[in-house]
Order: sequence, then structure tokens, then C-alpha cells
Amino acid sequence: MNGARGRYAPSPTGALHLGALRTALLAWLFARVEGGAFILRIEDLDLPRVRPGATRAILDDLRWLGLDWDEGPDSGGPYGPYIQSARGAIYAGALARLRAAGLLYPCYCTRAELRSAQDAAIASAPHLTGAPIPYSGACRNLTERERRARGAAGRAPSLRFRAPSEPVSFSDRLHGDITERVSETLGDIIVRRSDGVVAYNLAVVVDDALMGVTQVVRGADLLGVTAAQRALALALGYEPPRVYAHVPLATDASGVRLAKRDAAAGAEGLRERSITPERVVGALASSVGLWPPDEPATPRGLLAVFDPVRIGREPSLITPVW
Ligand code: GLU
Repeated sequence: MNGARGRYAPSPTGALHLGALRTALLAWLFARVEGGAFILRIEDLDLPRVRPGATRAILDDLRWLGLDWDEGPDSGGPYGPYIQSARGAIYAGALARLRAAGLLYPCYCTRAELRSAQDAAIASAPHLTGAPIPYSGACRNLTERERRARGAAGRAPSLRFRAPSEPVSFSDRLHGDITERVSETLGDIIVRRSDGVVAYNLAVVVDDALMGVTQVVRGADLLGVTAAQRALALALGYEPPRVYAHVPLATDASGVRLAKRDAAAGAEGLRERSITPERVVGALASSVGLWPPDEPATPRGLLAVFDPVRIGREPSLITPVW
């Protein structure tokens, strides 16, 4: 596939706060500055967390900000549907392929067991505190008999993907070249939860590949799962995205990361206060060093000055002047 294809993939669990709007703006800029296509995908697999009306609000807010997309839940496109809850059969196909390749196994560990395994790992290696702790692998090599016994005990298993021990490398426009052994960082990740819901990590890999995504721009909180996602893509025979940019998360004035519940600070509240999208775009761009403070801007106007080198890596405060 030729040409850059970028995407923004929000979960409709609430309205987009300023940090999410900034990520969307940056993803749009990364794609458009290369003359690339931009895709909007709604990641609504975790249905209990989905809020009614949130998808509509997200589309409205992004459009209000001045962003546009070539493919998405409203406009359609050749690789749809662009709403994950409508793609169940596609994920089931991917799971079947992994299973046929012997790369999946059922995991019966409960949350409490996983937590105590993690506590034990921390206790035995306190110098590693803060580093990710991989899944212990407790269910990796169960015999058929052991599996049947656990299944009979009424435990619904999740499905895990056997992490490769070979290193996985990728390049991030903000964080540089990264090489990681997924077996040592995350271990075998869950690709289907015990409640049957397809896990984010599987869905995102399948969708990015089938939608021809070449660049992934998203919040820095997902940097730690990128190597695992690439390993999964390779196991499925996909060509993983070429470019990543894990952009800074937004914090409030006390340094705490913005969460969806802070949506009062999101676009709807701003609209109600008659704050223009140009002022919002200007504040978002200036918060990552792309634009002078207090100057209104439009996404298109930013294309002329967009330079990823100027975007910082640390979480940053968005300090609007309104
Ligand atoms: N749906 C995820 C979120 O809202 C983002 C996934 C991604 O960009 O890979 O946090």
C-alpha cells in the first residue's frame, strides 16, 4: 500500500478531554503533513464502559475542532466497518489463525492470583520496582487434564498469546528506536478476556493491519504495549505499522493525568462558553511547543509549521487562556 495512512481510535467511554483532543489533532497533523489519509475508528469493545451518545459527541467535537477524516463510522470506506463492535467475525478469524498456529492457550488465573504473583515477583526483586512485570506463565504449560479440571471447576478462561522470545524493534518519532523482548516485559498478553470480549491489543492489531494503517499516533501510555502489538501482528502475518509517535499525555495543574471524567474541560463545555475552536487548537498546539501561546490556530494552518521534533516527551499541561 502506498501513501501514509494515519488514524485516531478513541474509546467512547466519555467525552474527549483536552488531552484526547490534542492527541487527535497531532494524529491528524502527522497524517496530513505527509498528504496521507486519516481514519477515524471507534473502539467500543468494552461495552460496559461505553457511554450512550459518546460516539456521536466524539465525532461532533472532532469536527468542531476542524479535523476531517477520509474513512470513519459516518463516512464509511473500503475497510469498514469502522466501529469495533461490528467487527466481531474478523477478530474471531484472527483468533482462529493464532490458535491453529499453536500460539494461544487458555489462562484460568483469577485477578487475585495474578495480583499475588505480581506481589511475589516484586518481593523477590525489589530493585526492579516500577519495571513492568510479565505474566508469570502459570497457565502456559498446563496439560490437557489440568485444563479440563480447571474448566470443570467453573472458571472461564481468558486466552493468552505466547510471547516470542526474540527481540521486537520499532522506531518512535518521539521516543527513538526501541528494542524489547516481549517475553521479558509483558509476557503472554491476553487476546480474549474471560468474559469473551476480544482484548484491545488484538483488535487494534487486526484493525490497523486490515485498514492499511502505516502510522500510529497515540498517547504515551500505550508505548509499553507497542512491542507486544507488533509481535502479534507478525504472528498473524501482517506488516506492522511503519511509524509510531507516542505523544505526551495531558495533565492538570497539579500534574495529575486528565481522565475522561474531567470531560467538563472538553469541547462541549468550551462550546457552551462560546470559546472558539481556533483558540482551542492554538492552546493545544502551543502546549506541545508547536505554536506561540495565546494565538488562535486552525489544524490546516498548523500544517505549515508542524515539526514533530518540537513535541516534548513528558506529560504536559494544557494552559488555556480562556
Ligand atoms: N482506544 C484507545 C484509547 O482510547 C486507543 C488505542 C490506540 O490508539 O491504539 O485509549
